[in-house]
Amino acid sequence: MRLRPTPLLLLPLIAGAQTMSIEEYEPTSTLVVPEHKVERARYPFIDVHNHQRGGAERLDQLVADMDRINLRIMVNLSGGYGERLKETVLTFSRYPGRFAVFANIDFSGLDEPGYSEKAARQLEQDVASGAKGLKIFKNFGMNLTDRAGKRVPVDDPRFDLLFETCGRLGIPVLIHTAEPKALFDPMDKNNERWLELKLHPGRARPPGQYPSWQALMDEQHNLFAKHPNTKFINAHLGWLGNNLAELGRLLDRLPNVYTEVAAVIEELGRQPRFAREWFIRYQDRVMFGKDTWRPAEYATYFRLFETADEYFEHDRKYHGIWRIYGLDLPEEVLRKFYYKNALRVIPGLSRSGFPE
Ligand SMILES: [Zn+2]
Repeated sequence: MRLRPTPLLLLPLIAGAQTMSIEEYEPTSTLVVPEHKVERARYPFIDVHNHQRGGAERLDQLVADMDRINLRIMVNLSGGYGERLKETVLTFSRYPGRFAVFANIDFSGLDEPGYSEKAARQLEQDVASGAKGLKIFKNFGMNLTDRAGKRVPVDDPRFDLLFETCGRLGIPVLIHTAEPKALFDPMDKNNERWLELKLHPGRARPPGQYPSWQALMDEQHNLFAKHPNTKFINAHLGWLGNNLAELGRLLDRLPNVYTEVAAVIEELGRQPRFAREWFIRYQDRVMFGKDTWRPAEYATYFRLFETADEYFEHDRKYHGIWRIYGLDLPEEVLRKFYYKNALRVIPGLSRSGFPE
């Protein structure tokens, strides 16, 4: 069959489509399958990874939004330390039982003698002021340097006393180390996060400027192994959401380690069968986390964990240019993931509002 030549009039349109950039490409799916949008979690849940700074003036709105999606307890990881921690605890205590505040580390005086004891003492005070855990931000291990400009590794012995203190006080450490491995890799045509690197060039972690991804992972895992009596919640599936078998081996080896799913659901949703098996196997070790407070985005999380929906969009295309599939978690696994594990690991949370 002979193709008819394209009418001249259409040529610019076609040429435009052919030169369109990958950022502009937004194919509309033609797939028609059953859809179950879930605006509200099936059970009251605990978000173990959230950040609220200040917040007194919009607290009523915040709690109203939480109620709408069935978020019973929000863990605010940005508590600070000292006076600010006290203020944060006080602010959020206006809604008793609805918030838990985690403390952060004061790095000032890191090079001075007695720093280890000072940091541990500060944490004891912060826990006495109402902190329910310690949050370690990602600058720890990546950007934090001592006075000589030397990078402070994640397993730096200066913090041993602090982590031992967490174990003694029975509070967990939620720790974010490194970034997705692809951000450390060359930005070439094979990089899975090419789009993210294009849209957010500052997220690149090239060698020379940063330690390698594997070095950071090794340091973090060494930290966990060094403090077997301290509970660690490894944020963002420890950046092993794309290698759950490896994450499973880490959890098998280190019973003091837990994890959570903030900002990595696209990893789970592209492997729904294996991820479901994994969740069943590690049902006592994984918790719900979200990180950014955009109430409308929680619906995607609920849909992923509660339904068997197929090929739906998630909210961060640049984290993964694919669509995702629901895990349809079994009831008991879902309850542990939504609230039971967090109630067990984080001390002093209110049980009110949660089913048995
Ligand atoms: Zn965070």
